[in-house]
Amino acid sequence: MATVASNVIARELRERRVQLEIARETAAAEADIDRLLAEVDAALARVGAGTYGLCEVCHDPVEPERLQADPLLRFCIDHLSAPEQRALEQDLQTAARVQRGLLPEQDIAAPGWEISYHWEPAGLVSGDWCDVVRHDGDLFFMFGDVSGKGVAAAILMSHLHATFRTLVPGTPKVGHLVESANRVFRESTPSPYFATLVCGRAAASGEVELCNAGHCPPVVLSSRGVETVAPTGLPVGTFFSAAYGSRGVRLDAGDALVLYTDGLTEARDRSDAEYGTDRLARTLAGARGLAAGAVVAACLEDQAAFLAGAPKRDDLTVMAIRRTA
Ligand SMILES: [Zn+2]
Repeated sequence: MATVASNVIARELRERRVQLEIARETAAAEADIDRLLAEVDAALARVGAGTYGLCEVCHDPVEPERLQADPLLRFCIDHLSAPEQRALEQDLQTAARVQRGLLPEQDIAAPGWEISYHWEPAGLVSGDWCDVVRHDGDLFFMFGDVSGKGVAAAILMSHLHATFRTLVPGTPKVGHLVESANRVFRESTPSPYFATLVCGRAAASGEVELCNAGHCPPVVLSSRGVETVAPTGLPVGTFFSAAYGSRGVRLDAGDALVLYTDGLTEARDRSDAEYGTDRLARTLAGARGLAAGAVVAACLEDQAAFLAGAPKRDDLTVMAIRRTA
C-alpha cells in the first residue's frame, strides 16, 4: 500500500513530468528533456517499488536535504560517481568563497571599540556565523551557530545573516531584533533546524546590550575578573512566539567581551577529554588587557595546546570586542 509520503513524492514527480512535456513542445534542447523525462519515469517506478530515496549501491537512505534539492538522486553522498563527486566539490568550493564573502572585515575599529574574530569551518562551509554592523553610532554584533553542519547549516547561516542585516536599521533594541529574526526564521525554515546566537549593541559610552538566544554564555573580562552573561531566551527557531529579553553590561577601557561557539569549548583531545569552559575562563583571565586580536589568539593557542594535534570536528568561531577608551 502506498504511504502518504510516497503519494506526495509521486505527485511532485508527475508535476515535473508535465513541465518537461510542455518544455519538449517548445524547447530546442530536446535530447536533454528526453533524458530528464526518462529519469523522472525511473524515479516514479522507484516510488512504486518502494525503493525511492534509497542509495542504489548501499541501500541506505539518500541524505534528505540533498533529495529535497534534487528528487532524481539515486546515490548517497558516499557513492557518487567520480564526475558527480568533482562537480559537488566544485560547488562546495564556490559556496565556501561566497560564505567567506559574508563575513565582516577583520580587525574592526570604531569609536571606543575594537573587534577581532577567527572563523574556521570544520569542512569547506560552516554553520557558524558572525557579523558586525555600524548603525547610528552604535556597533551591532551578531554571533551564532546553526544546528547541524555542512551545506544545510551554511544556507541557514546566510539566511540569518541577511535577516539581521535587514532588521538592524529599524530595530534599535536587540531583544526585539532577535524576536523578529526568530519569527522570520521559524516561518521560513524546515522544522528541525534552530540557531543559538548572541546579538549585541555596543554604544560609544561603553554600555553593551546583549540578547543571548541559547548560545554559549559570552564572557566579560574586566577588573572584576572573568564573568559570564547567562542566556536571555531560547534558541532562534524553537517557537514562533518566543519572547527575547536583554541584559546590559558596562565595559570600561581595557575590558573585553568574548564570544565563542561550542567548537571551542566542546573540542576533545585524543583521550576524549573536553576543553571546557573552566579552562577557557583560566585562559581568558590571563588575557585581560590584551588587544582584541591577541585575546582571540590566546584562546586559539590554548585550544591548540590542549588538542595537541587531535583533529577539530566542529566549526569554530571566536570573537573579542574590546573597549579601547
Ligand atoms: Zn550509498
